[in-house]
Amino acid sequence: MPRLLEVKGLTAGYGMIEVLHDMSVHIDEGEIVTIIGANGAGKTTTLHCLSGLVPARQGKILLRGQEIQNLPPHEIVLLGLSQSPEGRRIFPRLSVLENLQMGAFTRSDKPQIAKDIEHCYDLFPILKERQQQLGGTLSGGEQQMLAVARAILSRPKLLLLDEPSLGLAPLIVLKIFEVIRKLNQEGMSVILVEQNARMALKLAHRGYVLETGRITATGSGQSLLDDPKVQEAYLGH
Ligand code: ATP
Repeated sequence: MPRLLEVKGLTAGYGMIEVLHDMSVHIDEGEIVTIIGANGAGKTTTLHCLSGLVPARQGKILLRGQEIQNLPPHEIVLLGLSQSPEGRRIFPRLSVLENLQMGAFTRSDKPQIAKDIEHCYDLFPILKERQQQLGGTLSGGEQQMLAVARAILSRPKLLLLDEPSLGLAPLIVLKIFEVIRKLNQEGMSVILVEQNARMALKLAHRGYVLETGRITATGSGQSLLDDPKVQEAYLGH
């Protein structure tokens, strides 16, 4: 499988604090890759580096072979990478439909955008029912669905999801995971950051364990599920 994203020796942080230390990960076309780790390990920082929100201090980030570590976020979106942020961050004063239209800000193909919005409504029918409602009035689960739907409207090759299950009821989590699988079957590659390590590893082709800014284990989702150290630290055994 062709390599979609390659991160080589990434170091990043905030002010005096270094959060990621010489981190290397990759994702191939068609994969779902999960990054699991404790609070504060650097998972969100990793995603923010990939999407251009946090600068890389050292190292390279290659998207289909092109260096992106110095590009601004909107250019990275244009190259096919889109992030659905933690905490949802939808636009509260815009309607559901307007939120979705914002997700397509890089595009001008109006008929195709309309089709893609319909596709989002097929994936999340509740969003269609709520399309005129203001984003800020949606439930937590609906906002999460809207955040995922908005992220896919830029037609990314690579979708970054930060804690999509955070604070949601189990049934809604299942729904969101089912949609991630469907998007992947349609050809989208996904990097999934999750506290819910068991579900994430079951869904993912491969995973990485991140501990205080360093990758300490990697392998197929199943091999990490079977790893006693991973079980003890992240799976509640
Ligand atoms: P969580 O699951 O709790 O979100 P995480 O693995 O995503 O954790 P990060 O959010 O990447 O971890 O945070 C890694 C470290 O960087 C933490 O110690 C955090 O306090 C610190 N950090 C994150 N954002 C900033 C910031 N804007 N300024 C300073 N320090 C920050």
